[in-house]
Amino acid sequence: MNIDKQYFLNLAKDLLTTPSPSGYCHHIIDKVENYAKALNLDFKRTNKGNAIIEIKGNHDDYVVGLSAHVDTLGLMVRSINGNGTLNITTIGGNQSNSLIGEYCTVFTRDNKSYQGTILTTSYSSHVYDDASKKGSNFDELMIRLDERVASSSDVTALGINNGDVIAIDPKTIITENGFIKSRHIDDKISVAIIFTLIKAIKESNLELNNTIKFIISTYEEVGHGAAYIPNDIKELIAVDMGCIGKDLACTEYDVSICAKDSSGPYDYQLTSKLIEIAKKTNLNFAVDIYPYYGSDASAALRGGNDIKAALIGPGVHASHGMERTHYDACENAIKLLASYLTE
Ligand SMILES: [Zn+2]
Repeated sequence: MNIDKQYFLNLAKDLLTTPSPSGYCHHIIDKVENYAKALNLDFKRTNKGNAIIEIKGNHDDYVVGLSAHVDTLGLMVRSINGNGTLNITTIGGNQSNSLIGEYCTVFTRDNKSYQGTILTTSYSSHVYDDASKKGSNFDELMIRLDERVASSSDVTALGINNGDVIAIDPKTIITENGFIKSRHIDDKISVAIIFTLIKAIKESNLELNNTIKFIISTYEEVGHGAAYIPNDIKELIAVDMGCIGKDLACTEYDVSICAKDSSGPYDYQLTSKLIEIAKKTNLNFAVDIYPYYGSDASAALRGGNDIKAALIGPGVHASHGMERTHYDACENAIKLLASYLTE
């Protein structure tokens, strides 16, 4: 099977640099639709705004679901201060201290956008004696707009209002030696992984054992991304970032297979089968337990779907902060899924 690395990296970069906090995914799903059409794939959109792409396999009576989420962490305007700065509320599980000093874009509901910077409320060392101590919660953060504003009415005159969505600058860089550095690698990288997998399967004329439905979800970071899935799906493999850190075996070069997360253990047989394939195919992989994590497969189970559920994905360092992974982890994930779906 020939994996098109350049296609993968270009797609990853395009997705990573397209703003898509949970609840603001219509633009990126339009983009995903174009990528699906370029591969002649059958693309559908659910009422909630998720995408479902179906690819026929040899058996239609056991549909395998693959999911990856295209929504990310973000912020929202909570209120506007009298001095023209903005108070914020988090969308998803942001680490407030990792946002200090980050650039951001505010999207108004009348389609304008404005640049700004996330700062603490003690924003200058020369003025505030607690400047190095602030920023551990969202009440201690604010946004300084790159506009000449000195009052709340100056801000509303720009069209900015409470409830406007704010995207954090992803700072995407792909290095010559294969590192992918960006916010929101979780989980745009897995959307790129699955598209690259589908392209490779098509171009190599490999046959899928079963029909697959690829769900690109949009509310994962707030807990209900793939709570609904088509009812002919019998098993769902969530492809989402693998955790790295204390007690965990995974690195940025491995595909991670999750045995258990905060939602409990994943399906025993399906997880065992994925581990067996990873061993047989000589992939760099790790089996881990994620202490603070829930996936789209957990959401689907909680949504009442009668499915076998599993979770795999490339190892991502410093998740929900300044994330990084390596191409090798992504390639291991592609190979694991390809073997599972075609052999
Ligand atoms: Zn994720």
